[in-house]
Amino acid sequence: MSGVIAQANAPSHSHESPEFNPQISAEARFDQAAALLKIDAGLQKVLRAPAREITVNIPVMLDDGRLEVFTGYRVQHSLARGPAKGGIRYAPDVSIEEVRALAAWMTWKCAVLDLPYGGGKGGVICNPAQLSQVELERITRRYTSEIIEFIGPEKDVPAPDMNTNEQTMAWIMDTYSMHQRETTTAVVTGKPLNLGGSRGRTEATGRGCLLVTLEALKLFNWKPEDTRVVIQGFGNVGGMAAKLMARTGFKIIAIVEWDGAVYNPNGLDIEKLMRHKKETGSIVDFAEGENMDRFEAMYLECEVLVPAAKENVITSQNADKLRTRIICEGANGPTTHLADPILRDKKIFVIPDILANAGGVTVSYFEWVQDRMGYFWSEDEVNRRLAERMVESFKDVVNYAGKHKVDNRTAAYLLALDRVQFAIKLRGIYG
Ligand code: NAD
Repeated sequence: MSGVIAQANAPSHSHESPEFNPQISAEARFDQAAALLKIDAGLQKVLRAPAREITVNIPVMLDDGRLEVFTGYRVQHSLARGPAKGGIRYAPDVSIEEVRALAAWMTWKCAVLDLPYGGGKGGVICNPAQLSQVELERITRRYTSEIIEFIGPEKDVPAPDMNTNEQTMAWIMDTYSMHQRETTTAVVTGKPLNLGGSRGRTEATGRGCLLVTLEALKLFNWKPEDTRVVIQGFGNVGGMAAKLMARTGFKIIAIVEWDGAVYNPNGLDIEKLMRHKKETGSIVDFAEGENMDRFEAMYLECEVLVPAAKENVITSQNADKLRTRIICEGANGPTTHLADPILRDKKIFVIPDILANAGGVTVSYFEWVQDRMGYFWSEDEVNRRLAERMVESFKDVVNYAGKHKVDNRTAAYLLALDRVQFAIKLRGIYG
Protein backbone atom coordinates (compact mmCIF):
# COMPACT_ATOMS: atom_id res chain seq x y z
CA MET A 1 0.00 0.00 0.00
CA SER A 2 2.84 2.40 0.85
CA GLY A 3 4.11 2.06 -2.73
CA VAL A 4 0.77 3.21 -4.06
CA ILE A 5 0.78 6.22 -1.76
CA ALA A 6 4.33 7.12 -2.75
CA GLN A 7 3.43 7.00 -6.45
CA ALA A 8 0.26 8.99 -5.98
CA ASN A 9 2.38 11.70 -4.46
CA ALA A 10 4.98 11.57 -7.21
CA PRO A 11 5.17 14.82 -9.17
CA SER A 12 3.16 14.77 -12.37
CA HIS A 13 4.75 15.74 -15.68
CA SER A 14 5.46 19.40 -15.77
CA HIS A 15 4.65 21.43 -18.85
CA GLU A 16 8.20 22.84 -18.60
CA SER A 17 9.65 19.92 -20.60
CA PRO A 18 8.85 20.48 -24.28
CA GLU A 19 7.59 16.88 -24.57
CA PHE A 20 4.78 17.65 -22.13
CA ASN A 21 3.80 21.04 -23.52
CA PRO A 22 0.41 20.59 -25.25
CA GLN A 23 1.08 23.48 -27.61
CA ILE A 24 4.36 21.94 -28.82
CA SER A 25 2.70 18.53 -29.28
CA ALA A 26 -0.21 20.05 -31.20
CA GLU A 27 2.11 22.12 -33.39
CA ALA A 28 4.36 19.14 -34.18
CA ARG A 29 1.33 17.26 -35.49
CA PHE A 30 0.05 20.30 -37.36
CA ASP A 31 3.46 20.86 -39.03
CA GLN A 32 3.70 17.25 -40.12
CA ALA A 33 0.20 17.22 -41.63
CA ALA A 34 0.64 20.64 -43.30
CA ALA A 35 3.89 19.47 -44.93
CA LEU A 36 2.30 16.23 -46.18
CA LEU A 37 -0.63 18.18 -47.65
CA LYS A 38 1.83 20.68 -49.15
CA ILE A 39 -0.23 23.57 -47.79
CA ASP A 40 1.41 26.80 -48.90
CA ALA A 41 3.23 28.89 -46.30
CA GLY A 42 0.69 31.73 -46.28
CA LEU A 43 -2.29 29.44 -45.73
CA GLN A 44 -0.35 27.64 -42.99
CA LYS A 45 -0.04 30.98 -41.21
CA VAL A 46 -3.82 31.47 -41.45
CA LEU A 47 -4.53 27.96 -40.17
CA ARG A 48 -2.10 28.33 -37.29
CA ALA A 49 -3.09 31.76 -35.99
CA PRO A 50 -6.12 31.99 -33.67
CA ALA A 51 -8.80 34.18 -35.26
CA ARG A 52 -9.49 35.98 -31.99
CA GLU A 53 -8.18 35.97 -28.42
CA ILE A 54 -10.13 37.75 -25.73
CA THR A 55 -8.71 38.46 -22.27
CA VAL A 56 -10.99 39.85 -19.59
CA ASN A 57 -10.34 40.89 -16.01
CA ILE A 58 -13.41 40.14 -13.94
CA PRO A 59 -14.02 42.04 -10.70
CA VAL A 60 -16.01 39.89 -8.29
CA MET A 61 -17.21 40.58 -4.76
CA LEU A 62 -16.34 37.58 -2.56
CA ASP A 63 -18.63 36.34 0.21
CA ASP A 64 -16.45 37.96 2.90
CA GLY A 65 -16.82 41.39 1.28
CA ARG A 66 -13.36 41.48 -0.35
CA LEU A 67 -13.13 42.53 -3.98
CA GLU A 68 -11.07 40.17 -6.16
CA VAL A 69 -10.13 40.31 -9.85
CA PHE A 70 -10.05 37.07 -11.89
CA THR A 71 -8.57 36.80 -15.36
CA GLY A 72 -10.55 34.95 -18.02
CA TYR A 73 -9.87 34.03 -21.63
CA ARG A 74 -11.84 32.99 -24.67
CA VAL A 75 -9.89 31.97 -27.74
CA GLN A 76 -11.61 31.41 -31.08
CA HIS A 77 -9.07 29.55 -33.11
CA SER A 78 -11.09 29.14 -36.30
CA LEU A 79 -14.47 30.33 -37.53
CA ALA A 80 -13.96 29.03 -41.08
CA ARG A 81 -16.42 26.11 -40.92
CA GLY A 82 -18.95 27.65 -38.53
CA PRO A 83 -19.23 29.10 -35.02
CA ALA A 84 -16.41 28.37 -32.58
CA LYS A 85 -17.09 25.39 -30.30
CA GLY A 86 -15.30 24.37 -27.14
CA GLY A 87 -15.36 24.18 -23.37
CA ILE A 88 -14.64 26.63 -20.58
CA ARG A 89 -12.39 25.49 -17.74
CA TYR A 90 -11.88 26.91 -14.26
CA ALA A 91 -8.49 26.15 -12.70
CA PRO A 92 -5.64 27.98 -10.95
CA ASP A 93 -3.15 27.07 -13.70
CA VAL A 94 -5.22 28.13 -16.72
CA SER A 95 -3.00 30.09 -19.12
CA ILE A 96 -3.51 31.74 -22.50
CA GLU A 97 -1.01 29.26 -24.04
CA GLU A 98 -3.05 26.30 -22.80
CA VAL A 99 -6.37 27.81 -23.91
CA ARG A 100 -4.87 28.66 -27.32
CA ALA A 101 -3.62 25.08 -27.85
CA LEU A 102 -6.93 23.58 -26.75
CA ALA A 103 -8.89 25.92 -29.06
CA ALA A 104 -6.88 24.72 -32.08
CA TRP A 105 -7.45 21.14 -30.93
CA MET A 106 -11.22 21.77 -31.08
CA THR A 107 -10.94 23.07 -34.65
CA TRP A 108 -9.31 19.81 -35.74
CA LYS A 109 -11.68 17.63 -33.69
CA CYS A 110 -14.82 19.28 -35.11
CA ALA A 111 -13.39 19.00 -38.62
CA VAL A 112 -12.60 15.27 -38.24
CA LEU A 113 -16.23 14.68 -37.24
CA ASP A 114 -17.37 17.00 -40.06
CA LEU A 115 -19.35 19.14 -37.60
CA PRO A 116 -20.24 22.62 -38.92
CA TYR A 117 -18.05 24.33 -36.34
CA GLY A 118 -14.72 26.01 -35.89
CA GLY A 119 -12.81 25.63 -32.62
CA GLY A 120 -12.67 27.60 -29.42
CA LYS A 121 -11.80 27.29 -25.75
CA GLY A 122 -12.12 29.41 -22.65
CA GLY A 123 -10.85 29.51 -19.13
CA VAL A 124 -10.86 31.50 -15.93
CA ILE A 125 -7.88 31.50 -13.56
CA CYS A 126 -9.46 30.60 -10.22
CA ASN A 127 -9.52 27.80 -7.68
CA PRO A 128 -13.08 26.42 -7.61
CA ALA A 129 -12.27 24.34 -4.50
CA GLN A 130 -11.89 27.59 -2.54
CA LEU A 131 -14.95 29.34 -3.95
CA SER A 132 -18.58 29.10 -2.82
CA GLN A 133 -21.39 28.38 -5.30
CA VAL A 134 -22.46 32.01 -5.05
CA GLU A 135 -18.92 33.22 -5.86
CA LEU A 136 -18.72 30.79 -8.79
CA GLU A 137 -22.06 32.07 -10.06
CA ARG A 138 -20.84 35.68 -9.85
CA ILE A 139 -17.60 34.83 -11.68
CA THR A 140 -19.52 32.95 -14.37
CA ARG A 141 -22.08 35.70 -14.95
CA ARG A 142 -19.50 38.49 -15.07
CA TYR A 143 -17.19 36.46 -17.35
CA THR A 144 -20.18 35.83 -19.64
CA SER A 145 -21.14 39.50 -19.71
CA GLU A 146 -17.53 40.48 -20.53
CA ILE A 147 -17.40 38.19 -23.58
CA ILE A 148 -21.08 38.52 -24.49
CA GLU A 149 -20.67 40.17 -27.88
CA PHE A 150 -18.36 37.36 -29.01
CA ILE A 151 -20.56 34.38 -28.08
CA GLY A 152 -23.92 33.25 -29.45
CA PRO A 153 -25.50 30.33 -31.31
CA GLU A 154 -24.06 31.60 -34.61
CA LYS A 155 -20.77 32.94 -33.19
CA ASP A 156 -19.26 30.79 -30.47
CA VAL A 157 -20.93 28.06 -28.43
CA PRO A 158 -19.17 27.21 -25.12
CA ALA A 159 -19.55 23.96 -23.18
CA PRO A 160 -18.36 22.49 -19.86
CA ASP A 161 -14.74 21.50 -19.34
CA MET A 162 -12.54 20.98 -16.28
CA ASN A 163 -14.36 22.19 -13.11
CA THR A 164 -17.37 23.54 -14.96
CA ASN A 165 -20.64 21.66 -15.33
CA GLU A 166 -24.28 21.89 -16.38
CA GLN A 167 -24.99 24.42 -13.61
CA THR A 168 -22.24 26.67 -15.02
CA MET A 169 -23.84 26.34 -18.47
CA ALA A 170 -27.29 27.20 -17.05
CA TRP A 171 -25.82 30.43 -15.56
CA ILE A 172 -24.16 31.34 -18.88
CA MET A 173 -27.36 30.63 -20.79
CA ASP A 174 -29.40 32.73 -18.35
CA THR A 175 -26.96 35.67 -18.38
CA TYR A 176 -26.83 35.69 -22.17
CA SER A 177 -30.63 35.37 -22.40
CA MET A 178 -31.18 38.27 -19.97
CA HIS A 179 -29.04 40.52 -22.19
CA GLN A 180 -30.75 39.32 -25.39
CA ARG A 181 -34.19 39.72 -23.81
CA GLU A 182 -35.08 36.21 -25.03
CA THR A 183 -34.27 32.70 -23.89
CA THR A 184 -31.44 31.49 -26.09
CA THR A 185 -30.67 27.90 -25.11
CA ALA A 186 -28.37 27.27 -28.12
CA VAL A 187 -25.68 29.66 -26.81
CA VAL A 188 -24.09 26.83 -24.80
CA THR A 189 -24.23 23.04 -24.76
CA GLY A 190 -23.92 20.62 -21.87
CA LYS A 191 -26.97 22.19 -20.22
CA PRO A 192 -29.33 20.41 -17.81
CA LEU A 193 -31.88 18.20 -19.60
CA ASN A 194 -34.84 20.39 -18.65
CA LEU A 195 -33.13 23.55 -19.93
CA GLY A 196 -32.45 22.43 -23.48
CA GLY A 197 -29.85 19.74 -22.78
CA SER A 198 -29.68 16.60 -24.90
CA ARG A 199 -30.38 13.06 -23.87
CA GLY A 200 -27.31 10.86 -24.10
CA ARG A 201 -24.80 13.69 -23.47
CA THR A 202 -23.37 12.28 -20.22
CA GLU A 203 -22.54 8.94 -21.80
CA ALA A 204 -21.58 10.32 -25.21
CA THR A 205 -17.78 10.39 -24.92
CA GLY A 206 -17.56 6.90 -23.41
CA ARG A 207 -20.06 5.63 -25.98
CA GLY A 208 -17.95 7.16 -28.75
CA CYS A 209 -14.91 5.24 -27.43
CA LEU A 210 -16.92 2.01 -27.54
CA LEU A 211 -18.11 2.70 -31.10
CA VAL A 212 -14.68 3.38 -32.58
CA THR A 213 -13.15 0.44 -30.71
CA LEU A 214 -15.82 -1.85 -32.19
CA GLU A 215 -14.88 -0.55 -35.66
CA ALA A 216 -11.19 -1.23 -34.98
CA LEU A 217 -12.05 -4.77 -33.84
CA LYS A 218 -13.64 -5.42 -37.23
CA LEU A 219 -10.29 -4.63 -38.91
CA PHE A 220 -8.57 -7.16 -36.64
CA ASN A 221 -11.37 -9.68 -37.00
CA TRP A 222 -11.76 -9.91 -33.23
CA LYS A 223 -14.87 -10.34 -31.14
CA PRO A 224 -15.49 -8.30 -27.96
CA GLU A 225 -15.55 -11.55 -25.94
CA ASP A 226 -11.92 -12.25 -26.93
CA THR A 227 -10.78 -8.69 -26.27
CA ARG A 228 -8.97 -7.76 -23.05
CA VAL A 229 -9.20 -4.10 -22.14
CA VAL A 230 -7.25 -1.91 -19.68
CA ILE A 231 -8.80 1.47 -18.88
CA GLN A 232 -7.00 4.34 -17.17
CA GLY A 233 -9.37 6.77 -15.47
CA PHE A 234 -12.72 5.73 -13.98
CA GLY A 235 -14.46 9.11 -14.29
CA ASN A 236 -16.95 10.32 -16.85
CA VAL A 237 -15.15 9.05 -19.95
CA GLY A 238 -13.36 5.97 -18.56
CA GLY A 239 -16.25 4.90 -16.32
CA MET A 240 -18.82 5.13 -19.11
CA ALA A 241 -16.49 3.45 -21.61
CA ALA A 242 -15.89 0.64 -19.09
CA LYS A 243 -19.60 0.18 -18.38
CA LEU A 244 -20.63 0.18 -22.04
CA MET A 245 -17.72 -2.02 -23.14
CA ALA A 246 -18.45 -4.56 -20.38
CA ARG A 247 -22.12 -4.63 -21.44
CA THR A 248 -21.00 -5.28 -25.04
CA GLY A 249 -18.99 -8.31 -23.90
CA PHE A 250 -15.44 -6.92 -23.67
CA LYS A 251 -13.28 -8.32 -20.87
CA ILE A 252 -12.17 -5.32 -18.79
CA ILE A 253 -9.14 -6.85 -17.06
CA ALA A 254 -7.89 -3.72 -15.27
CA ILE A 255 -8.99 -0.28 -14.21
CA VAL A 256 -6.27 2.21 -13.32
CA GLU A 257 -6.88 5.23 -11.09
CA TRP A 258 -4.63 7.87 -9.51
CA ASP A 259 -4.47 5.90 -6.21
CA GLY A 260 -3.97 2.37 -7.59
CA ALA A 261 -5.28 -0.23 -10.02
CA VAL A 262 -7.52 -3.31 -9.81
CA TYR A 263 -6.95 -6.39 -11.91
CA ASN A 264 -8.95 -9.49 -12.75
CA PRO A 265 -7.74 -11.61 -15.68
CA ASN A 266 -11.27 -12.98 -16.16
CA GLY A 267 -12.82 -9.53 -16.45
CA LEU A 268 -14.02 -7.13 -13.75
CA ASP A 269 -17.69 -6.67 -12.90
CA ILE A 270 -17.75 -2.95 -13.77
CA GLU A 271 -21.13 -2.11 -12.26
CA LYS A 272 -20.05 -3.70 -8.94
CA LEU A 273 -16.75 -1.80 -9.12
CA MET A 274 -18.70 1.44 -9.63
CA ARG A 275 -20.73 0.71 -6.50
CA HIS A 276 -17.50 -0.09 -4.59
CA LYS A 277 -15.99 3.24 -5.67
CA LYS A 278 -19.16 5.09 -4.66
CA GLU A 279 -19.18 3.45 -1.22
CA THR A 280 -15.44 3.65 -0.43
CA GLY A 281 -14.29 6.57 -2.58
CA SER A 282 -11.73 4.39 -4.36
CA ILE A 283 -11.45 1.43 -6.73
CA VAL A 284 -8.71 -0.05 -4.51
CA ASP A 285 -9.48 -3.15 -2.34
CA PHE A 286 -12.30 -4.36 -4.59
CA ALA A 287 -13.31 -7.86 -3.43
CA GLU A 288 -13.46 -9.32 -6.96
CA GLY A 289 -10.04 -8.12 -8.13
CA GLU A 290 -6.41 -7.82 -7.08
CA ASN A 291 -4.80 -4.51 -6.20
CA MET A 292 -2.02 -3.68 -8.61
CA ASP A 293 0.64 -1.02 -9.08
CA ARG A 294 -0.96 1.68 -11.21
CA PHE A 295 2.06 2.02 -13.49
CA GLU A 296 2.51 -1.74 -14.01
CA ALA A 297 -1.19 -2.08 -14.87
CA MET A 298 -0.66 0.15 -17.90
CA TYR A 299 1.84 -2.41 -19.26
CA LEU A 300 -0.43 -5.46 -18.91
CA GLU A 301 -0.81 -7.57 -22.00
CA CYS A 302 -4.15 -6.67 -23.56
CA GLU A 303 -5.81 -6.00 -26.89
CA VAL A 304 -7.14 -2.52 -26.09
CA LEU A 305 -5.75 0.21 -23.82
CA VAL A 306 -8.03 3.17 -23.13
CA PRO A 307 -6.16 6.10 -21.54
CA ALA A 308 -9.12 8.16 -20.29
CA ALA A 309 -7.68 10.14 -17.38
CA LYS A 310 -5.33 12.92 -18.37
CA GLU A 311 -2.71 14.17 -20.82
CA ASN A 312 0.91 12.98 -21.21
CA VAL A 313 0.61 9.43 -19.88
CA ILE A 314 2.12 7.65 -22.90
CA THR A 315 5.52 9.23 -23.41
CA SER A 316 8.91 8.60 -25.01
CA GLN A 317 9.89 7.11 -21.61
CA ASN A 318 7.26 4.38 -21.41
CA ALA A 319 5.72 3.82 -24.88
CA ASP A 320 7.99 0.84 -25.59
CA LYS A 321 6.69 -0.96 -22.49
CA LEU A 322 3.08 -1.08 -23.68
CA ARG A 323 1.74 -4.54 -24.55
CA THR A 324 -1.49 -3.60 -26.27
CA ARG A 325 -2.53 -3.83 -29.93
CA ILE A 326 -5.01 -0.95 -29.96
CA ILE A 327 -5.02 2.37 -28.09
CA CYS A 328 -8.32 4.23 -27.90
CA GLU A 329 -7.52 7.75 -26.65
CA GLY A 330 -10.44 8.67 -24.40
CA ALA A 331 -8.50 11.55 -22.82
CA ASN A 332 -7.25 14.63 -24.63
CA GLY A 333 -3.54 14.41 -25.42
CA PRO A 334 -2.71 11.19 -23.51
CA THR A 335 0.15 10.50 -25.95
CA THR A 336 3.04 12.91 -26.46
CA HIS A 337 4.28 13.63 -29.96
CA LEU A 338 7.60 11.94 -29.10
CA ALA A 339 5.75 8.72 -28.26
CA ASP A 340 4.02 8.64 -31.66
CA PRO A 341 6.94 7.13 -33.64
CA ILE A 342 7.50 4.48 -30.94
CA LEU A 343 3.86 3.37 -31.16
CA ARG A 344 4.16 3.38 -34.96
CA ASP A 345 7.22 1.11 -34.80
CA LYS A 346 5.40 -1.22 -32.44
CA LYS A 347 2.52 -1.35 -34.96
CA ILE A 348 0.00 -0.32 -32.31
CA PHE A 349 -3.26 0.79 -33.90
CA VAL A 350 -3.96 4.19 -32.33
CA ILE A 351 -7.44 5.71 -32.44
CA PRO A 352 -6.38 9.31 -31.87
CA ASP A 353 -8.06 11.60 -29.35
CA ILE A 354 -9.50 13.98 -31.94
CA LEU A 355 -11.53 11.03 -33.22
CA ALA A 356 -11.86 8.67 -30.22
CA ASN A 357 -13.22 11.17 -27.68
CA ALA A 358 -15.28 13.23 -30.12
CA GLY A 359 -18.55 11.60 -29.01
CA GLY A 360 -19.01 14.42 -26.49
CA VAL A 361 -18.72 17.28 -28.96
CA THR A 362 -20.86 15.36 -31.44
CA VAL A 363 -23.75 15.12 -28.98
CA SER A 364 -23.10 18.77 -28.09
CA TYR A 365 -23.71 19.48 -31.77
CA PHE A 366 -26.94 17.47 -31.56
CA GLU A 367 -27.93 19.53 -28.50
CA TRP A 368 -27.40 22.77 -30.46
CA VAL A 369 -29.40 21.38 -33.39
CA GLN A 370 -32.27 20.31 -31.10
CA ASP A 371 -32.28 23.70 -29.30
CA ARG A 372 -32.52 25.53 -32.59
CA MET A 373 -35.38 23.27 -33.77
CA GLY A 374 -37.10 23.33 -30.39
CA TYR A 375 -37.70 19.61 -30.85
CA PHE A 376 -35.91 16.98 -28.79
CA TRP A 377 -34.88 13.48 -29.78
CA SER A 378 -35.21 10.28 -27.78
CA GLU A 379 -32.03 8.80 -26.34
CA ASP A 380 -32.16 6.03 -28.97
CA GLU A 381 -32.30 8.65 -31.73
CA VAL A 382 -29.29 10.49 -30.27
CA ASN A 383 -27.33 7.24 -29.92
CA ARG A 384 -28.21 6.15 -33.45
CA ARG A 385 -27.02 9.44 -34.93
CA LEU A 386 -23.89 9.37 -32.75
CA ALA A 387 -23.06 5.87 -34.01
CA GLU A 388 -23.53 7.00 -37.60
CA ARG A 389 -21.13 9.96 -37.15
CA MET A 390 -18.47 8.08 -35.20
CA VAL A 391 -18.40 5.13 -37.60
CA GLU A 392 -18.29 7.41 -40.66
CA SER A 393 -15.45 9.47 -39.18
CA PHE A 394 -13.52 6.36 -38.18
CA LYS A 395 -13.76 5.13 -41.77
CA ASP A 396 -12.73 8.56 -43.12
CA VAL A 397 -9.59 8.51 -40.93
CA VAL A 398 -8.66 4.92 -41.77
CA ASN A 399 -9.18 5.60 -45.49
CA TYR A 400 -6.98 8.69 -45.29
CA ALA A 401 -4.32 6.65 -43.48
CA GLY A 402 -4.38 4.11 -46.29
CA LYS A 403 -4.41 6.71 -49.05
CA HIS A 404 -1.52 8.75 -47.62
CA LYS A 405 0.33 5.75 -46.09
CA VAL A 406 0.47 7.37 -42.64
CA ASP A 407 -0.62 6.40 -39.14
CA ASN A 408 -4.13 7.16 -37.91
CA ARG A 409 -3.21 10.26 -35.93
CA THR A 410 -1.46 11.85 -38.89
CA ALA A 411 -4.43 10.82 -41.05
CA ALA A 412 -6.89 12.51 -38.66
CA TYR A 413 -4.84 15.73 -38.80
CA LEU A 414 -4.60 15.50 -42.59
CA LEU A 415 -8.36 15.07 -42.86
CA ALA A 416 -9.01 17.97 -40.47
CA LEU A 417 -6.54 20.36 -42.10
CA ASP A 418 -7.83 19.45 -45.54
CA ARG A 419 -11.43 20.23 -44.53
CA VAL A 420 -10.52 23.53 -42.83
CA GLN A 421 -8.23 24.72 -45.64
CA PHE A 422 -10.93 23.84 -48.18
CA ALA A 423 -13.44 26.02 -46.28
CA ILE A 424 -10.97 28.91 -46.12
CA LYS A 425 -10.23 28.65 -49.83
CA LEU A 426 -13.93 28.53 -50.73
CA ARG A 427 -14.72 31.55 -48.58
CA GLY A 428 -11.63 33.41 -49.80
CA ILE A 429 -9.63 35.96 -47.86
CA TYR A 430 -11.69 39.09 -47.20
CA GLY A 431 -9.85 42.34 -47.32
P1 NAD B 1 -13.16 12.97 -14.82
O1 NAD B 1 -12.59 13.93 -13.85
O2 NAD B 1 -14.62 12.62 -14.73
O3 NAD B 1 -12.36 11.58 -14.76
C1 NAD B 1 -10.98 11.47 -14.77
C2 NAD B 1 -10.61 10.27 -13.91
O4 NAD B 1 -9.22 10.02 -14.04
C3 NAD B 1 -10.89 10.50 -12.42
O5 NAD B 1 -11.58 9.38 -11.88
C4 NAD B 1 -9.49 10.66 -11.82
O6 NAD B 1 -9.40 10.20 -10.48
C5 NAD B 1 -8.67 9.80 -12.76
N1 NAD B 1 -7.24 10.16 -12.77
C6 NAD B 1 -6.69 11.38 -12.60
N2 NAD B 1 -5.34 11.29 -12.65
C7 NAD B 1 -5.06 10.00 -12.86
C8 NAD B 1 -3.86 9.27 -13.00
N3 NAD B 1 -2.67 9.87 -12.94
N4 NAD B 1 -3.92 7.94 -13.22
C9 NAD B 1 -5.12 7.31 -13.29
N5 NAD B 1 -6.29 7.94 -13.14
C10 NAD B 1 -6.27 9.26 -12.94
O7 NAD B 1 -12.79 13.55 -16.27
P2 NAD B 1 -13.39 13.08 -17.66
O8 NAD B 1 -14.47 14.02 -18.05
O9 NAD B 1 -13.62 11.62 -17.64
O10 NAD B 1 -12.15 13.44 -18.61
C11 NAD B 1 -11.03 12.58 -18.74
C12 NAD B 1 -10.22 12.99 -19.97
O11 NAD B 1 -11.06 12.93 -21.12
C13 NAD B 1 -9.66 14.41 -19.96
O12 NAD B 1 -8.45 14.41 -20.68
C14 NAD B 1 -10.71 15.19 -20.74
O13 NAD B 1 -10.16 16.38 -21.32
C15 NAD B 1 -11.07 14.19 -21.80
N6 NAD B 1 -12.38 14.39 -22.44
C16 NAD B 1 -13.53 14.41 -21.73
C17 NAD B 1 -14.74 14.56 -22.38
C18 NAD B 1 -16.05 14.51 -21.64
O14 NAD B 1 -17.10 14.52 -22.32
N7 NAD B 1 -16.06 14.40 -20.33
C19 NAD B 1 -14.76 14.73 -23.78
C20 NAD B 1 -13.56 14.71 -24.49
C21 NAD B 1 -12.37 14.52 -23.81
